Amino acid sequence: MYLSDIILPRYCPVCGRVLLRKENYLCLHCLADLPYSYFWSYRGNAAELSLEGKISVDKAASLLIYRENSPCSKIVQAFKYKHRTGLCRYMGDMLGGKLAESGWAKGYDYIIPVPLHPLKRWVRGYNQAEIISRALGARLEIPVLKDQLVRRRYTTSQTRKNAAERLSGMEGAFRLRKRGFFEGKSLLLVDDVMTTGATLVSCANEILKMDNCRIGIVTLAFAE
Ligand SMILES: [Zn+2]
Repeated sequence: MYLSDIILPRYCPVCGRVLLRKENYLCLHCLADLPYSYFWSYRGNAAELSLEGKISVDKAASLLIYRENSPCSKIVQAFKYKHRTGLCRYMGDMLGGKLAESGWAKGYDYIIPVPLHPLKRWVRGYNQAEIISRALGARLEIPVLKDQLVRRRYTTSQTRKNAAERLSGMEGAFRLRKRGFFEGKSLLLVDDVMTTGATLVSCANEILKMDNCRIGIVTLAFAE
């Protein structure tokens, strides 16, 4: 056993059990029970259908299906609010593995994480979409551009708003720094969870103002 395990026991964020030395971030039981979406293996999946009519994207994939109070929601809470950045990287790497194995991400030029407002990022200390993007980039061998898409408005929590309110609340919330740079590029837009898709739609709208841009959407979790 490592000294750090005695001083700082590592816990499974899903079931709360102390992790064994051979376990990484999740216990083997919870790891075996992860609610995979398998979106990377077929077209017309729920993530793609949920974006239909809102924005024209090539394709969309998520690693897990998210439900309230589910194992997946505990994982998301842990890396979003409890500073479990290692877990975030681990899940991003897992997603990258699925996308790499299936050839899903072939032909994309850059990975773009959905930015947090600088104030929010400063308070949290990290942007989980960036951590996921870096893990994906390493697996897929696609460069990550983290400062090109900028969040220009601070948006308060969207959770109490309905889908239409969320969408209008996000309008014009993002801008591209070097506009011409993105012309003719294929981009993977990355976020942690897709719920209504309002944030991703707003980002994609800004990017698709460029000529001949293609966008694929990747999130760790998809909320049904
Ligand atoms: Zn567990």
